[in-house]
Amino acid sequence: MSKSLPKRSENYSEWYNELVKRADLAENSAVRGCMVIKPYGYSIWEKMQRALDDMFKETGHTNAYFPLFVPKSLFEAEEKNAEGFAKECAVVTHYRLKNNPEKPGKLMVDPEAKLEEELIVRPTSEAIIWSTYKNWIQSYRDLPLLINQWANVVRWEMRTRLFLRTAEFLWQEGHTAHATREEAIAETEQMLHVYATFAEEFMAVPVIRGKKTANERFAGAEDTYCIEAMMQDGKALQAGTSHFLGQNFAKAFDVKFMTKENKQDFVWGTSWGVSTRLMGALIMAHSDDEGLILPPKLAPIQVVIVPIFKGQEQLELISNTILPIVKELKKRGISVKFDNSDKQSPGFKFAEYELKGVPVRLAIGARDLGNGTVEVARRDTKEKKTYPIEGIVDTISTLLDDIQVNIYQRAFNFRTENTYKVDTWEEFTKILEETPGFIAAHWDGTSETEEKIKELTKATIRCIPLDAVEEEGKCILTGQPSSKRVIFAKSY
Ligand code: AMP
Repeated sequence: MSKSLPKRSENYSEWYNELVKRADLAENSAVRGCMVIKPYGYSIWEKMQRALDDMFKETGHTNAYFPLFVPKSLFEAEEKNAEGFAKECAVVTHYRLKNNPEKPGKLMVDPEAKLEEELIVRPTSEAIIWSTYKNWIQSYRDLPLLINQWANVVRWEMRTRLFLRTAEFLWQEGHTAHATREEAIAETEQMLHVYATFAEEFMAVPVIRGKKTANERFAGAEDTYCIEAMMQDGKALQAGTSHFLGQNFAKAFDVKFMTKENKQDFVWGTSWGVSTRLMGALIMAHSDDEGLILPPKLAPIQVVIVPIFKGQEQLELISNTILPIVKELKKRGISVKFDNSDKQSPGFKFAEYELKGVPVRLAIGARDLGNGTVEVARRDTKEKKTYPIEGIVDTISTLLDDIQVNIYQRAFNFRTENTYKVDTWEEFTKILEETPGFIAAHWDGTSETEEKIKELTKATIRCIPLDAVEEEGKCILTGQPSSKRVIFAKSY
């Protein structure tokens, strides 16, 4: 049996890194900053994708695919976007290698195969997509254009961590075009709510919906909306963003349309994305010192059944009872694994499925069979109970729903307990040092103050909550008047 995980209370960061590896979610690769997502991790991501994709389709979007490479001239067209991403771009300059005459068996870049125009590996796809939209949009009849792409992007991040921040990551990016400003803003907000609903209902992670400050805005956007989640160490994780692009990209790529009134106007745009960072949020929001805790709606295996047996005969008896249950669970759309292998002991299997976060575990031995009962353990509370086999499928189904609700509630309570309303600078710094969490405080609305606070405390403004109430207050640092509280926190 491998040694236990580091404890969250002792080294949260080590605990996370180890858990990601031991639970077979992902590992570092031969490429700096790029990860290998392992089958178990990928199957969680697939479940996320499926749920999100359904929600995108439900709101009228369709999927398409655009190239990985963006010619530099297109990339440059929207200046703010280009400037914002320039520092993290991977650039293709050549298209061929050749044998190195000085080092037999080695290759070198062929200087004769230099590209006339460099290609940027997309860090985001506004440029390539808006250059295409120019050909797709002529009239108001072509609008709105509601497209999503599932893809990988590359941002040359210096400090990377599995799932949370990698140089290459998987994501979806929605890119929409509209006839009016109001419609584009409504789309931006709608997609933020789609993300929030997904986070809360599927991931069981409560999120704060808000707007970013000007400093933290997406390069090229007029407004950036975000959802922010609290991890178990009190730090914030930006879990998704939705941008109102105004007419910036339409102007940069000359995307005009004929209005109903027969006038030419620039198109209004939005873009929105969530990435494999969501996996990090999922892991850090719920899991414990024994391993993952997965919400049933995203767990690749929702129920595992471990028979406790000596010899083939006992296994057969147990199987006779269990196989019809397996069949019935599958019929109800519940994913179940009957682990009847005799290569590992039941104790080993228990620990393994705990590590992997399987929400419900059934254990059944010869004696249970005699009693017509089965032992049911839930992963979230580690509670074990004996239930009659009769009606067990209903019991499991209810239990899964219960776990989904319970882990959301637990995360919600944790966030409530670790959110502080603060009015003095002393209290502000004390909380950040002693009991990190979210701090709702007043801010004077300037970038200078925001930066100064970051410099002094490492805390940033996570967002201006959409539901912030108007109240008179004074900036935590400068004492200048402020009309609503913003959320400060240290973040990933
Ligand atoms: P952005 O295009 O910058 O608004 O980012 C879109 C989404 O991708 C956000 O939800 C970010 O949290 C996420 N994201 C940004 N950079 C990374 C990264 N290096 N690794 C993983 N996810 C990222």
